[in-house]
Amino acid sequence: MKYYSANYILPITSLPIKDGVVGINDDGEILGIYEAKSTELDGQHIEKFNGVIVPGFINAHCHLELSHMKGTIPSKTGLPAFLSAVMTSRNSPLKVIDKAMADADEEMYKNGIVAVGDHANTDNTSRIKESSKILYHTFIEVFGVEPSEADGKIQEAKDLIHEFASAHSSITPHAPYSCSKALLKKFKKSVSEGNIISIHNQESDEENKLFRYKTGEFLDFFKKIGKNPDLFKAQARNSIQSYLPYLPNPNKLILVHNTYTSLKDLDFVDRMGRDIVWCLCPKANLFIEDQLPKVMNFVNDNQKIVLGTDSLASNDSLSILDELKVLHKNFEELDFQQSIQWATINGAQALNIADQFGSLEIGKKPGLVLLKNMEHFRLTDKVTVQRLA
Ligand SMILES: [Zn+2]
Repeated sequence: MKYYSANYILPITSLPIKDGVVGINDDGEILGIYEAKSTELDGQHIEKFNGVIVPGFINAHCHLELSHMKGTIPSKTGLPAFLSAVMTSRNSPLKVIDKAMADADEEMYKNGIVAVGDHANTDNTSRIKESSKILYHTFIEVFGVEPSEADGKIQEAKDLIHEFASAHSSITPHAPYSCSKALLKKFKKSVSEGNIISIHNQESDEENKLFRYKTGEFLDFFKKIGKNPDLFKAQARNSIQSYLPYLPNPNKLILVHNTYTSLKDLDFVDRMGRDIVWCLCPKANLFIEDQLPKVMNFVNDNQKIVLGTDSLASNDSLSILDELKVLHKNFEELDFQQSIQWATINGAQALNIADQFGSLEIGKKPGLVLLKNMEHFRLTDKVTVQRLA
């Protein structure tokens, strides 16, 4: 049994404890959470730190299999050009890919990340996920813009999912612009209610243009990759309002990026009565589109938010703390005690792992992370992360 204390313990699901103490066993299971002067601690050795102790971070969106692309893709080109660059340059020797993934996995661990929602369209990540200290939920992506591809694509995903831990994997449509209506319909029929969906949403305004007016850079993108898409008719409304009704309900639904999600879109979602989790990946948005989502719209509308790093193809670090820093720098009215929930318990709930992760509670094994150089719960550039357990 080890005891850790800091200026504050933030259990997340209960109030902060000034000078509180957390007791964990060698397996990382929390056996006790104590007030500063609890007599239960008499005679125990307590390791004391300056800073705030929080549970391990949940990275709700990553593509580990693209780790070797760090620094290889030009930034701020917009999404269609970014996707073209990834498609043409993602192949590398397996050795290079394996090494980059191992480094990325280690980087996330050191940065206090305990669980990851990770997208895959190959089995490259399966071995490292099995041996990692991090828990991975793998989202097998399906995509295909031509209706004739739909059956084959669903079958490919069903074959691939066997390579990953069955309790922590599911099949998901990749993005609204990359899936035909036929594919979404087949997908809906082929998955069970427990299959968590994690779809890229409104990452670029070109996606909205495609669905609203059937114009924009995605049409050129399809031509370039030799695809003849079966497009929805121009809908005079944003992408989310067009495709959401095609996704199975009541499956858990994580929408990733949401950079161009409008207030009207939020109204639409509210009216649909669907439980939705909004995953923000601010650093990747700045890298690809040089744009951030309208974060305060989501906050003021009481939407459920989680955080992701996206892959090293569009980020220079895999750190949830770095994502939080960018958000707090750009949205000064944000409250740390709220945003830290996005980084922990909300992500754990979205990935169905809140029984073990996301908060400091007796019986859980959530990991322990120390945030150093925090003053009055203000998240500034000076804050650093140290993994305690
Ligand atoms: Zn992504």
